[in-house]
Amino acid sequence: MQRRLFVSSLLGAAAGGIPLARALAAAAATPIAGDLPATRLAGGETVLTRSAVKDFQAGLRGPLLLAGQDGYDRARQVWNGMIDRRPALIAQCSGPADVVRSVQFARANDLLVAVRSGGHSTSGQSVCDGGLMIDLSAMRGVRVDPKAKRAWVPGGALLGELDRESQLFGLATTAGTVSHTGAAGLTLGGGFGRLGRRFGLSCDNLVSVDVVTADGKFLRASNDENRDLFWGLRGGGGNFGIATGFEYRLHEMGPTILGGPLIFPFSQVREVLEFFVEFAATAPDELNIDCAIVAPPGAKPMVVLEICYSGDLAKGEKVIAPIRTFSKPLADQVKPMPYVKLQTTADAANAAGRNYYIKSGFVEQVVPELLDNLLAGYSADPGRATIVVLQQLGGAIARVRTDATAFPHRGAKFDLLVLGGWDDASQNERHTAWIKSYWAPLEPYTRGFYFNTSVGDSQEKIRANFGANYPRLVKLKDRYDPANLFHLNANVQPS
Ligand SMILES: Cc1cc2nc3c(=O)[nH]c(=O)nc-3n(C[C@H](O)[C@H](O)[C@H](O)COP(=O)(O)OP(=O)(O)OC[C@H]3O[C@@H](n4cnc5c(N)ncnc54)[C@H](O)[C@@H]3O)c2cc1C
Repeated sequence: MQRRLFVSSLLGAAAGGIPLARALAAAAATPIAGDLPATRLAGGETVLTRSAVKDFQAGLRGPLLLAGQDGYDRARQVWNGMIDRRPALIAQCSGPADVVRSVQFARANDLLVAVRSGGHSTSGQSVCDGGLMIDLSAMRGVRVDPKAKRAWVPGGALLGELDRESQLFGLATTAGTVSHTGAAGLTLGGGFGRLGRRFGLSCDNLVSVDVVTADGKFLRASNDENRDLFWGLRGGGGNFGIATGFEYRLHEMGPTILGGPLIFPFSQVREVLEFFVEFAATAPDELNIDCAIVAPPGAKPMVVLEICYSGDLAKGEKVIAPIRTFSKPLADQVKPMPYVKLQTTADAANAAGRNYYIKSGFVEQVVPELLDNLLAGYSADPGRATIVVLQQLGGAIARVRTDATAFPHRGAKFDLLVLGGWDDASQNERHTAWIKSYWAPLEPYTRGFYFNTSVGDSQEKIRANFGANYPRLVKLKDRYDPANLFHLNANVQPS
C-alpha cells in the first residue's frame, strides 16, 4: 500500500513512496534502449522512435519510466490488485509543466492516454496497456489559508492530506471515507463523505480547478473563468482535461466529532435496516449514518451503524440517543474523537493490492422488496467476502439543482454498494460472478449509479446516467477534447 505522506510543501513530494529527488536522479540515469512499441489512441500499434522518447524524457522534470526499469512495476500498480496493465511509458509528473509536456507528446504521437492520481479507480481506468500513463501521484502538498478558508490541493494529493492540513485550523470540506483515496478522481466524479449532508459533495465545494486540456493548454476554471468547463468538471470526471490543482472552500468543523460504530448481531439485521431508513429520513444535516453488513474474517456477520455527528457535541448526544436505544447493540463505540481519526478507520479494511469488485446504485426509496432481496442474497453468500453498504446521502447534496453541476443524482437518499475484497487471485471469477448475481435482483430498486464506483458500464448506460446533463457535456467535450484523448473514464463521446 502506498505510504501516506503528510507534507505541506512540494519539496516533500514523493513519487509512489520514493522521494522525488531520488526518483529524479534515477530518471536522469535511465537509458532508452531503442524504439518502443506503443498503443494508439484508437487502438492498434505504433512505434515511438528512440529519439522521440529521449526528447520527451529530456523535456520532463519528473521520471519517465519504461518496462523493466526501476520503479516501473510499482508505478503501474493501482489500488485494485485485479488490474494488471502495462503502459509503454509512465510519465511521473512533478508539476503542471510536465503534464502539459505529456499531453503534447501523447497528441503528437497519437497515443492512448491514462491519467492517474490516487489510483483508486475500481475498474482500473487510471492505467492502460501500451499507452502513456500520466501519473500525478508525486504532485502533493496541500496548502490551507485559514483566514480565507481555502485549501489548495495538487492533482496527486490524497484525501488524508486534505483532511489533516485543513483540520490543523479546525476547518474541513467533504472528503471520502478512506484517507488513501485520491482527491482528484473523487472530486471530479462528485465526492461523497461523512460531511456531504452538511456541506454538499466535494465538487460542490470547489472554488476553482487548474486544468490541462487536450490541446496542451493550461486553463483555470471557476465561476469567473471558463465557467462552462467548471460546470463540467463538477461531476463530469476526467473527460475534459487533466486537473492539476483544486481550490476548495473550507468550513469550520471539528476537530472533535461524535463518531464511531454501533454494532448489532446479524439476527437483528432487518430491524436495524428498517430503523436506519426511517431515522435517516429526518436526521439533521450534521448527522451522517452509514449502514454496513460485514463479516470480518473468522467472525459472524454483523450489522454496523457508523455515526458521524459533526456539529455541537452535546446536541449530537441528544440527536443520536434513539439510535443507542431502539435495540440492543453488541457494542457501542460512538464517542467524541478527532475527525481525522474517524476518517482513517476504514483505511486498513480497504488496503491496496487486494482483489476487489463492486456494484452500486442510488436508491431514492427503500421498499420492503429491496430489503428482502438484500438479505436473501447476503445470507446465501458462499464466500462471505461481500460487504453491503447503504451510504446516507441527502441534506446539502440534495439542495443543489440537478443541472447546477454535471453531477445529476441529487435526489438519491442512499448509495447502495455491494463490494467484495479477497486476496486469492484464483478466486477472482468466482467472487465477481457472485457479486453480479447478488446485484441483479437489487438493481431494479436503484435509480442511476455513481460513476466513481462503476465498472464496465456500456456507453448507453453512461449516457442515460448523466440524464438531462448529457447534451451539455457533449458540447463541452466537442470544445475541449474533440479527439477523445481522455476516454478512460465514464466517457462522454464527442459528436
Ligand atoms: C477504498 C475506496 C474508498 C472510496 N470511498 C469513497 C467515498 O467515500 N466517497 C466517494 O465519493 N468515492 C469513494 N470512492 C470512489 C472514488 O471516488 C473513486 O475511486 C475515484 O475515482 C478515486 O480517485 P483517484 O484519484 O484515487 O483515482 P484514479 O484511479 O487515479 O482515477 C480515477 C479516474 O479519474 C481520472 N483522473 C484521476 N486523476 C485525474 C486528474 N487529475 N484529472 C483528470 N482525470 C483524473 C482517471 O483517469 C480515472 O478515470 C472510493 C474508492 C475506493 C477504492
